[in-house]
Amino acid sequence: MEQRKYDYLIVGAGLFGATFAYMAKQQGKRCIVIDKRPHLGGNVYCDNLGGITVHKYGPHIFHTSNKEVWNFVNKFVVFNQFTLNTIATYKEKLYNLPFNMHTFHQMWDVTKPEEAFAIIEQQRREATIENPRNLEEQAISLVGRDVYETLIKGYTEKQWGRPCRELPADIIKRLPVRFSFNNNYFNDRFQGIPEGGYNALIGGLLEGTECLTYCNYIDNRSELEGIADEIIYTGPIDEFFDYRLGRLEYRSLRFEQEDLPICNFQGNAIVNYTSAEVPYTRIVEHKWFDTYNAAAINAPHTIITREYPQDFTPGAEPYYPINDERNTVLHKDYLALAKKEVPDIAFAGRLGAYKYFDMDKTIAEAMTLANREYGYKA
Ligand code: UDP
Repeated sequence: MEQRKYDYLIVGAGLFGATFAYMAKQQGKRCIVIDKRPHLGGNVYCDNLGGITVHKYGPHIFHTSNKEVWNFVNKFVVFNQFTLNTIATYKEKLYNLPFNMHTFHQMWDVTKPEEAFAIIEQQRREATIENPRNLEEQAISLVGRDVYETLIKGYTEKQWGRPCRELPADIIKRLPVRFSFNNNYFNDRFQGIPEGGYNALIGGLLEGTECLTYCNYIDNRSELEGIADEIIYTGPIDEFFDYRLGRLEYRSLRFEQEDLPICNFQGNAIVNYTSAEVPYTRIVEHKWFDTYNAAAINAPHTIITREYPQDFTPGAEPYYPINDERNTVLHKDYLALAKKEVPDIAFAGRLGAYKYFDMDKTIAEAMTLANREYGYKA
């Protein structure tokens, strides 16, 4: 049989595709990576505008407790010391996130953990919640009704476009609740952002691998099908099958970016707007991701992005999978179809797996697939 030109065609040059390509290359596999966008890097791609690194597709803060993943990414880039401390604003007042003693002090004027705990306990009792069945009940059990109504309800309903009572409890469990004065948004052991942004990480992963931008698999299917023994597909699985079984749902985002002729707009990388009246969920001021880069911080301009959640309509970007029952079953059906019809294609990454992966999980998943495919060991 005639040998095909590549061992792997990797569709999508995001973090998953780039990590898999790196590992495959290390094992002597011949790979080609394609992406429909004009650049590599998927949603971690950064622009550099007048000395400021801009997270073009939303803020990406790398955090992990996985030592193997942390060592791996540190081979390619130097991470800065950034730690995410988010501020929330509600009706002109500021609160610290995630929920911690600063937040409880700002909310109730309490100074001791036991006082905060007692208020939450009382509000939980008043709400008579035994086993939380939805996000609203889960949130009230964790932090009480005041915090729920001030910092969670409006934000979450804007973000997901449906009432908290109709959302799964797990979403809110992503955020820590602490009875200490610790404003770190994450509980992980390691955290930071590559100095200069993520492009250097993607560049390191894809060095020496053939890459094609502006190349949409769906539009070039017939030419691409025969070039590799196997395909790693990181795009939406329903689109691959031309929506034969129905459409998977996503929540999308619209970014409104502004370059302002002032040095400092909000003094923090992320400020959340938790009230339902403000149409956006947060404002990102990109220079603050580079806290220790004096040139960026002192630049006489600043770039901010307002983030507006929106429905996923044709042409919008699929950001957050909506893992409710219908979509979970539909995704499983697509995987079964894939196994039957295209056994040489692995559907992977956030879109292929239809899961909201943090970046470290994406890399760990790529490592697992590389290990399964050809015994890769980091
Ligand atoms: N959340 C909230 N208020 C906030 C920030 C987050 O209620 O000010 C809730 C909201 O339901 C959101 C979830 O916490 O969907 C997870 O937030 P996270 O910051 O992890 O979301 P991401 O930045 O990953 O989209």
